[in-house]
Amino acid sequence: MASKVLFAPVAYSRYEESQTLPAKFDRLLEASGLAERVKDKSVAIKMHVGCGTSYSTIPPVFVRKLVNFVKKNGGNCFITDHYIASRNPGMRGYTEEYVGAPVIDACGYFGKYYYTKEVDYRSLKHIDIAGHIHDADFLIDFSHVKGHGACAYGGACKNIAMGCVTDRTRRQLHGLEGGLLWEADLCTQCEQCIQSCNHNANRFSGEGEYRVNYHNCTLCQHCVKVCPTGAISLDSHNYEDFQRGMAICTKTVLDTFEPDNVYYINMLISITAVCDCWGMTTPSLVPDIGIIAGEDIVAVEAASLDMIKFEDLIAVGVPEGMELGPSGHLFERLHYKNPYTQLTMLEEQGLGSREYGLTEIR
Ligand code: SF4
Ligand code: SF4
Repeated sequence: MASKVLFAPVAYSRYEESQTLPAKFDRLLEASGLAERVKDKSVAIKMHVGCGTSYSTIPPVFVRKLVNFVKKNGGNCFITDHYIASRNPGMRGYTEEYVGAPVIDACGYFGKYYYTKEVDYRSLKHIDIAGHIHDADFLIDFSHVKGHGACAYGGACKNIAMGCVTDRTRRQLHGLEGGLLWEADLCTQCEQCIQSCNHNANRFSGEGEYRVNYHNCTLCQHCVKVCPTGAISLDSHNYEDFQRGMAICTKTVLDTFEPDNVYYINMLISITAVCDCWGMTTPSLVPDIGIIAGEDIVAVEAASLDMIKFEDLIAVGVPEGMELGPSGHLFERLHYKNPYTQLTMLEEQGLGSREYGLTEIR
């Protein structure tokens, strides 16, 4: 059966406050069924608080509305993310004074408060769940949607998998990134591969080992094609390991909550090419779309991806001179990785279904 997904569009018909996205967000929350479910619960609102000079994370006005809604309905909530101490969330308006709830580091001030669960997927052996997320009764996964270099797309899954865990788990997840194979025996160190890379994604280490930064790498294969000895090859399935690792991590975090105690809200505004953790904001790739919400993470992610269309591309959102891929989703043309793979992995973990029915909030 198709999962119900709420959609509040930015499109408006009149010059009235009631037609704006914040006003529609109020109506979406009323229609969400959250009111009864957060009563008397401790509620973790997980978002990305941004860093550096970024200005495209969720605008504080929406955070404040969500906090007010939870409190009005008897929930006790807090805003959380990791690296809070170094990210200065107050610089982007996320202060307790304005949003109405404490803004705390998910792993505690020193980053040492977590619960470890063992998993076994390639080099991923532990999921260290952030202590304050683990201890909450209810999780609202409040995500800013954007592109992502390593997995093409960052939304609800990424907000949990990379944001509700410790540095050790994040490192293990990043350790799953891949896609290019290098054979040292064949390499003559001619460096043609380095010169051919337009994305500043590869280098040789001090020990002469070929290294790839998969955040920057688009798997364009320029380095593969120019290599005169065939020392570099593409293992096109390797990048999927990172996506599967994220899905496993997401499931492990979600397993700490009762099934009805999680809700997903995706903000499809200021949709940029790369993740908020870059500490900068580039121009939007497409016009703002609105807000997608629901109880099925896969359905919410599917609806979000489906609404981001290549035909709506705003050219200035892509770096000048960047060559886009010939086909697929906009994020695939940009990052050369299929963003829907993440959804397949989430389905594989039994976390939901891509089948959804939209209910529009007007
Ligand atoms: S595949 Fe393309 S982006 Fe990646 S390292 Fe090679 S040349 Fe650079
Ligand atoms: S192009 Fe091939 S042979 Fe030359 S440095 Fe790169 S990997 Fe080695």
